[in-house]
Amino acid sequence: MKTYDDNNIFAKILRGEIPNDTVYEDDHVLAFRDINPQAPVHVLVIPKGAYVDMTDFSANASDAELTAYFRALAKIANLLGVEDDGYRLISNTGKNGEQDVPHLHVHIAGGRRLRRMLQPSED
Ligand code: 5GP
Repeated sequence: MKTYDDNNIFAKILRGEIPNDTVYEDDHVLAFRDINPQAPVHVLVIPKGAYVDMTDFSANASDAELTAYFRALAKIANLLGVEDDGYRLISNTGKNGEQDVPHLHVHIAGGRRLRRMLQPSED
């Protein structure tokens, strides 16, 4: 099991040590705009609990946390106005998934036609 790093950037955002552009918050979930947007709408949705990635979250989160998180994803897409034209949810996990921040996050990307999801390997 991976150990959660309390000093990751999203933990600092949750503690209020780093500012963020919040678009949604409830008891279990925070959503804020990505600092380096890759699409006209690019928001990160994180659980408030300390979970490294989707593997950790799905195994160890409470039913209340799981329910709140998955309900929030579609609710936030609706709030952002991308529901009708469509959007993409991405959760990079671990080394091969190119996960940079070790606190579970789902990217919501939309607002334009997105390219095909996976590029050929550069290795
Ligand atoms: P990952 O590569 O882990 O899936 O995605 C991490 C995302 O976090 C990147 O899209 C990056 O732009 C975003 N990010 C990194 N640091 C910050 C920050 O301090 N604030 C915000 N709002 N986004 C950040």
